[in-house]
Amino acid sequence: MNESRYNESRYDEIFKRLVKTAYRGNVSEEIEKIRDGDSITDQYLLYASGGGDPNTVVFKVRDCGGRCAAGKDNCEASCLFDAIVRDMEGNVIIAPNSCTGCGKCVEVCEHYSLVDKKEFVPLVKLLKDRTMPVFAIIAPAFIGQFGPAVTPGKMRAALKRLGFYGMVEVALFADILTLKEALEFDRHVTREEDFMLTSMCCPIWVSMVKRVYQNLVPHISPSVSPMVACGRGVKHLHPGAKVVFIGPCIAKKAEAKEIDIKDAVDAVITFRELEQIFEVVGINPAELEEDESEHSSTAGRIYAGTGGVSRAISDTLNRLRPDRKIKIRAIQADGVQDCRKMLKDVLEGHIGGNFLEGMGCNGGCVGGPKAIIDPADGRKFVEEYGKEAGSLTPVDNKYVMELLKRLGIHDVHDFLDSSKAAMFIRDFGQVEQANRYSSDRL
Ligand code: SF4
Repeated sequence: MNESRYNESRYDEIFKRLVKTAYRGNVSEEIEKIRDGDSITDQYLLYASGGGDPNTVVFKVRDCGGRCAAGKDNCEASCLFDAIVRDMEGNVIIAPNSCTGCGKCVEVCEHYSLVDKKEFVPLVKLLKDRTMPVFAIIAPAFIGQFGPAVTPGKMRAALKRLGFYGMVEVALFADILTLKEALEFDRHVTREEDFMLTSMCCPIWVSMVKRVYQNLVPHISPSVSPMVACGRGVKHLHPGAKVVFIGPCIAKKAEAKEIDIKDAVDAVITFRELEQIFEVVGINPAELEEDESEHSSTAGRIYAGTGGVSRAISDTLNRLRPDRKIKIRAIQADGVQDCRKMLKDVLEGHIGGNFLEGMGCNGGCVGGPKAIIDPADGRKFVEEYGKEAGSLTPVDNKYVMELLKRLGIHDVHDFLDSSKAAMFIRDFGQVEQANRYSSDRL
């Protein structure tokens, strides 16, 4: 086993031991057993148990001495935000004010010297004691990740066995935000030269626009991500509940901690972490009985693949405004390099469409760093699940409309009323209203 794989498995093994003993009620003793005075083990132990700075996601566990092969992608090269610098010995220093917690450096670190914190162990007591409801909200990319036999109903049953009160598919809230984004497009793209950047889904895309391509901030739609909408929705319907997001993404761990939206989600775990949790507590989701199912539309279910957001919003806009002259002409980019190129092109005036969607990972969330299966297979599962939906768009989905009423939205146009749709709005803060998306402002 090479050093990197060894370190990865050591971090994962420590995590698994902690989860197992947390469910047995003797995690403190296990921590003392694992602690061996070796600084790397102790660092892995700290972050596997959810310790360290509560506002930070990516941590350095040791000095690497700059051992990465020259010319290879390494942490510095992967960082979009110039958050990684080296000291005189070549050791990595993470600049806290520049780091967005996107996790790209963790993905490429050959020596597992950089890790993302695991947030599950502190939750186990809450899940076991059941003194308050803890909901799992699961990303649209989950379908197929845990094997073809693991349906949404079986996944819900498995999560309940872990102690969750229930599971909500984030796709349901992607449906809701699809409506909002379609209306935002309708409001702001009124001339051929106008365009809009969707703010949905991907925190890496949003951070790129906010930090690197600030001139484009006026064009970004003022919406929270489906994860945040879902967390807020669950808490609105179940006051006092805690919410845990499950997805293929490290960057979502950081998004959940952002100051203006940190009310929504209390912890984030990844698909790979969940797979390990099931393994150590002896749950095989495929063998469980189906639990009740949900009713998201095709629109919300296809978000996990590149182009899914654009397609969902375009279908919904056509349904809401069939006679609209200016249709959505979507352009998409996936992977950091392509997102960069698209944003640079737009800044230089080469705008090939009027609706821009970017996803930080190749293939979209099905290609996320903590996905379990091959991205092509993930995409296939997501597309099939999308086709199985009972409705193409949220407009035709009576369950979505019913849910919206329970959240205080009685008419789709309420989405444009900030007093009624506050839980879905994110103020990116730098621009005035009227010609917010006008290309004149570049
Ligand atoms: Fe996370 Fe990648 Fe999906 Fe962006 S594209 S939300 S970084 S998994």
